[in-house]
Amino acid sequence: MVYSYEAPVSQSLFDRASVVTPGGVNSPVRAFRAVGGTPRFMVSGTGPYLTDADGREYVDLVCSWGPMILGHSHPEVIAAVQEAVSRGTSFGTPGEGEVALAEEIVARIEPVEQVRLVSSGTEATMSAIRLARGFTGRAKVVKFAGCYHGHVDALLAAAGSGLATFGLPDTPGVTGATAGDTVVLPYNDLDAVRAAFAAHPGEIACVITEASPGNMGVVPPAEGFNAGLKELCAADGALFISDEVMTGFRTSKAGWYGIDGVRPDLMTFGKVMGGGFPAAAFGGRADVMAHLAPAGPVYQAGTLSGNPVATAAGLAQLRLLDDAAYAKIDAVSAELRSLVGDAFTKEGVAHTVSSASNMFSVFFTDRPVRNYDDAKKQEAFRFTAFFHSMLEQGVYLPPSAFESWFVSTAHDERAVERIAAALPAAARAASEATA
Ligand code: PLP
Repeated sequence: MVYSYEAPVSQSLFDRASVVTPGGVNSPVRAFRAVGGTPRFMVSGTGPYLTDADGREYVDLVCSWGPMILGHSHPEVIAAVQEAVSRGTSFGTPGEGEVALAEEIVARIEPVEQVRLVSSGTEATMSAIRLARGFTGRAKVVKFAGCYHGHVDALLAAAGSGLATFGLPDTPGVTGATAGDTVVLPYNDLDAVRAAFAAHPGEIACVITEASPGNMGVVPPAEGFNAGLKELCAADGALFISDEVMTGFRTSKAGWYGIDGVRPDLMTFGKVMGGGFPAAAFGGRADVMAHLAPAGPVYQAGTLSGNPVATAAGLAQLRLLDDAAYAKIDAVSAELRSLVGDAFTKEGVAHTVSSASNMFSVFFTDRPVRNYDDAKKQEAFRFTAFFHSMLEQGVYLPPSAFESWFVSTAHDERAVERIAAALPAAARAASEATA
């Protein structure tokens, strides 16, 4: 594919980066490998907009992969960060900010009786699984194909996100012994879960699932799926872990739990709760959390866990996320979904706009997408053409057909109009694309 526009400053930064950093990026999906072209190096963000190093402005539909739910540089979040920074950046001791953030999480999400703060979603899921294994004394972990839980060794089997983008079934560096206790099942298939419990009675420590997956594109759980998982876990004495790193504090005030009401034993959080800083968490039943050090024997720790600047940013962001904020995000998402669907319909492009609350993505197929296999059957080459047309017209989408799109409270009418204006040409590009 030939791109009709250039980004010389981004290109020269990418050239420099590629000398000192593998692939030129610090997280694989940023590299544009799935869509080709030069990744944009961003220099600033305000509200729904990002500005790149070449001085081009984009409407941002990535929102830092979820965290920026109030848009970029929200004045109250920035003020909270400045105030925290002015008192120092890290103490390595407990601080009140951590307590306040934990209280906010516990207050919002009823099944979370206790919570431990960490620095990334990966750390949260890794720690939750260790805790589940320590608590149950069992080894096996059930996960679903297409669900991404961070780059935890044991969970990098048939994961989504960057692994879906690059079609890597697994990764070198994860040993058979590490992945050997991981059972990977098709998503939305309770019979497969039943069969796994029957095959390994009393051996499964936990079932971990994205509360509503967004890492193979958006594929919501079928009616009763999460409740079924919970029931099967309870019957066998395994723990049910709901990974809300992406959905937490985004899909509703209480995340996906606030929508389906299924009570997990443990939950994981990240993204939104850090306000754009590295803060994440796992939490749940007090009797399970009591097994964590120093209260209990399962070790878990972090030099920067509960960092005062990160907790100030997260707390400021969460406190601004009231019912009105979610109503606004839901409305913008609904408007965009309808605009996107209409544009593809007009151009005769087979598509499905798939959504879970305000998270959504487009699959280039008109067949139902219920799991990772279905998602992979889409005509992803159409996304490449669509993506580049949108980028050229100043709309920044996730550079992969297998990622959720994110909006914020800052996506106002002007931002939506700019997206609407870009859609007809981009949908045409998708319709004219060839494999
Ligand atoms: N879990 C889910 C559902 C995610 O979407 C992600 C990241 O995208 C993670 C875990 C890992 O989080 P992090 O990238 O902060 O390590």
